[in-house]
Amino acid sequence: MSPLSLESLMPPYIRSFEPYVPSRPDDELMRLYGCSRLFRLNNNENALGPPPAAQEVIRRFVPPRAALYPSGDSFYLRRKLADRYGKDPERFLVGNGVNEVIAFAIKAFCEAGDNIVTADRTFAVYEWVATFSGLEARLVPLRDYAFDDRGMLERMDGRTKIFFVCNPNNPTGTYWGRDRLRRFLEAVGGRAIVVVDEAYCEFVEREDYPDGMSLLDEYPHLVVFRTFSKMYGLAGLRIGYLTGSLPVVDAIRRACVVYSVNAVAQEAAAAALDDGNHVLKSRRLVWESRAYLEKELAARNLAIVSGEGNFLMIRLPMSDTLAYRKLMSRGVMVRTMTGFRFPNFIRVTLSVREAMEAFVAALDEILKR
Ligand SMILES: *Cc1c(COP(=O)(O)O)cnc(C)c1O
Repeated sequence: MSPLSLESLMPPYIRSFEPYVPSRPDDELMRLYGCSRLFRLNNNENALGPPPAAQEVIRRFVPPRAALYPSGDSFYLRRKLADRYGKDPERFLVGNGVNEVIAFAIKAFCEAGDNIVTADRTFAVYEWVATFSGLEARLVPLRDYAFDDRGMLERMDGRTKIFFVCNPNNPTGTYWGRDRLRRFLEAVGGRAIVVVDEAYCEFVEREDYPDGMSLLDEYPHLVVFRTFSKMYGLAGLRIGYLTGSLPVVDAIRRACVVYSVNAVAQEAAAAALDDGNHVLKSRRLVWESRAYLEKELAARNLAIVSGEGNFLMIRLPMSDTLAYRKLMSRGVMVRTMTGFRFPNFIRVTLSVREAMEAFVAALDEILKR
């Protein structure tokens, strides 16, 4: 048999794509770095876990049900979302996390030669899926740490199919207010899809922060992404969704693989939606931790970028990858920002006080030497 000619089998955009390397499991990391406990402050998870009602659903899942396929289109969860937001259930498409619905949207609208437009320093999955699908990702530099609406419109051409706007932005915490988002939607008109990723919307309490859901009836080219991974503490079950006008969601549904969302996730998500108290408690935790960290970091003359969402960014007087390793050996895991094109920055999840104190203590140690 002749040797496998892998290079010639792979399209050039796959050959040149650098795959993302996820972090190892906690016990592996603790062995590797020699620490006896580990605070994970790298993924913006909710330290309070899922709401109690969702925890109860998970606890009561009857094991033999694992043999059965789940609802292929998250039937009851979509009904619940429809009731909650006063919309047709057909206007919701649930996926295996927002990560999966990003891929659905791109596959539904883009072909070779098309492009998507987003920011250069934002959630990277929009860019990655476009790039390894052979599409052009046009990355517009942030302006004052925020998405640059004018710059994005300037990059639009006849092959632009989707704009991705992360609102508020991960990792900078900036957001477009209602007027700015409306102006952008008007300017794009029906020429392209505008996705607004609201992964952190439940943490935002600003008066002028737009609820994308409330704009859907006016703008049929608007698509809103929401996830159960952040506020609702269900990141491990992988569930998120998109919503938009019926024709747009119908189009995206053609490019979706059914049965990708497991039964426990569907039921836990539905239960989580009802718990308003969990949202309030989580917001309070984030508010307190942000105030605590802002004060501690200011006292150490460290520059921060702190906005909306359950995280903030810190500029360090050393390489972020070196800081990562040093913090890891002290049992604190943060996110390096070089990959987000913010060299020497780290992003820290706003978590419980104990974790915040451990982080500050570890930071003091690594900055001393
Ligand atoms: C965490 C995050 C997501 C990923 O959500 P999943 O539902 O866990 O795939 C999507 N968008 C942004 C901006 C995020 O920070």
